[in-house]
Amino acid sequence: MAELYPMALRAACKDYIWGGTRLRTEYGQQSSADKVAESWMLSSHPDGPSVVMNGKYKGLTLPEYFTEAGHSVFGTDCARFPDFPVLIKLIDAKERLSIQVHPDDAYARALGEPFGKTEMWYVVDCKPGASLYYGFDHAIPKEEFQSRIQDNTLEEVLNKVPAHRGDVFFITAGTLHAIGAGILIAEIQQSSNLTYRIYDYGRLGKDGKPRELHIAQALDVTRLVRPTRSSQPQGRPEAVPGGTRTLLASCNIFTVYKENILNREFQAGKESFHSVLCLSGEASLIRDGKEFLRLRKGGSIFIPAGYGKYRIQGNCTALMTEV
Ligand SMILES: [Zn+2]
Repeated sequence: MAELYPMALRAACKDYIWGGTRLRTEYGQQSSADKVAESWMLSSHPDGPSVVMNGKYKGLTLPEYFTEAGHSVFGTDCARFPDFPVLIKLIDAKERLSIQVHPDDAYARALGEPFGKTEMWYVVDCKPGASLYYGFDHAIPKEEFQSRIQDNTLEEVLNKVPAHRGDVFFITAGTLHAIGAGILIAEIQQSSNLTYRIYDYGRLGKDGKPRELHIAQALDVTRLVRPTRSSQPQGRPEAVPGGTRTLLASCNIFTVYKENILNREFQAGKESFHSVLCLSGEASLIRDGKEFLRLRKGGSIFIPAGYGKYRIQGNCTALMTEV
């Protein structure tokens, strides 16, 4: 039998060329690299698994823990997925990211990958005037998409959106996008690392060569339309015992709430795990009346499905994700 308890996770960090240093200096991520572009806060993906930091499973990567504990810790609502479905990251874009797109499940499975990639961004912080690309400004024919890639005029037809703290962008697979410079986001996504880069502003990678582009794949998977969703959370702030919560987005893969917590009781039922990602403030996770884990800015906790009731006490803002 798996032992069920809340687990603090250590993130896998990525030093991509566009990253800054805030995830280390402000969000407590540990990395010896110069830049911390991304920290994978809840990840069972082979390209960057998180590591359990406490208790019986201390030192195991998340996939190793899942093998040991069994998939019941995902929750019964995850039984329809071939593997653990969610990957959660913090992303510090000091410089802008490439213009890119991700495939859907069907395209990914044809390549032997379990998941495509639909993702959601919560803008944690951004510089005044920061912006990002979110799909096309208007629908265009495929021939025009192709010719604009070739003559480097793609940006002229993209939907450029100003970014503000608290904005939510829901990016279904096939939606072209690029995070702009000066934006720090929390990303909740399907557990996939399939990215098709279309345009990289002519910059060079760490090896001094342009980073690889994936034009043929992008032509296959990109939806050539303007996205219909706004940049607002799906729900309104709602007073709940011991705090306030706001539904940010819900889809068939994940449901994400922003929780402003003073003293909240939660329950992880058999249906789904909980993921708690602390974005500001500090709090204690209480088990049997005592502090079991400390939750700080940039901290990530995984609660296995079926764990039952637990309490978070303090004063913090956290993203709560479940399936
Ligand atoms: Zn993306």
